[in-house]
Amino acid sequence: MANRVEGKVAIVTGAASGIGRGCAEMLAREGARVFLTDRDPRVVDVGAALGAPHEGLVLDVTDEAGWQRVVDDVVARAGKLDILVNSAGIGVLGDIEHATLKEFRLMYAVNVEGVFLGCRAAVGAMKQTGGGSIVNISSVAGLVADPNLAGYCASKGAVRMLTKSIAMHGARKSVNVRCNSVHPSFIDTPMVAGMAEAMGGTDGAHEKLAKAAPMGRLGRVEEVAYLVLYLASDESSFTTGAEMVVDGGLTAR
Ligand code: NAP
Repeated sequence: MANRVEGKVAIVTGAASGIGRGCAEMLAREGARVFLTDRDPRVVDVGAALGAPHEGLVLDVTDEAGWQRVVDDVVARAGKLDILVNSAGIGVLGDIEHATLKEFRLMYAVNVEGVFLGCRAAVGAMKQTGGGSIVNISSVAGLVADPNLAGYCASKGAVRMLTKSIAMHGARKSVNVRCNSVHPSFIDTPMVAGMAEAMGGTDGAHEKLAKAAPMGRLGRVEEVAYLVLYLASDESSFTTGAEMVVDGGLTAR
């Protein structure tokens, strides 16, 4: 099917790379007008490559005032906001004995506070313009534990419950905003390449990550983007507060 989000206006965070970029490209291909955001200025080129009316804007998701500026700007120019995909995130390896408070706080600032700020700004705008759909990229680490990802698991678990609370608020007719979380296992992106490097940089590390899922491989960005597309579109109009995995079977065992 084509044009599954025809006429909708979307903001995607973390859109210079990996899953965010893939989601932005998918939503654009399916008819949405997409505002791609990232702290990495390369997002401007990624937006330009998609062509008008799509556009890349620099936004650090931890910047409260920056969020309001971007959402106001999008509504002023496009007339509304229908979709927000919160994909910006960071992951630092570390078990509870080796993780530092600095890294823990950094992950919380980006992965949790960034999502909180984005959802808050977006709900305000969506409510004024007829409602919308928010998709938060959590992780299987928000559902099942990994001993080497203490802070990351904590942050992604927080995204899961923040999403459900927003969904309960958004279910009111006067708000009309759906909010769902997506939980990927290891996906082939620069983040996972960085993780493999931190684990020793060998093919062995890459293979270990691939074998974490019963399907025995890394997921592809497109496989996450199709789920995000479904949740962003009206096809999922009765789905809110859901936690949806795209994990090659990892959480099924
Ligand atoms: P990625 O390739 O590293 O892309 C993440 C993007 O977010 C990067 O462009 C990054 O910019 C940006 N970013 C980081 N901090 C930011 C901030 N404060 N403000 C704005 N942008 C920021 O990672 P990915 O694999 O696509 O991950 C996307 C999301 O999926 C993350 O939330 C991640 O936790 C989640 N996830 C990923 C996997 C996986 O296996 N890849 C699995 C489960 C969940 P910089 O390059 O400048 O940092």
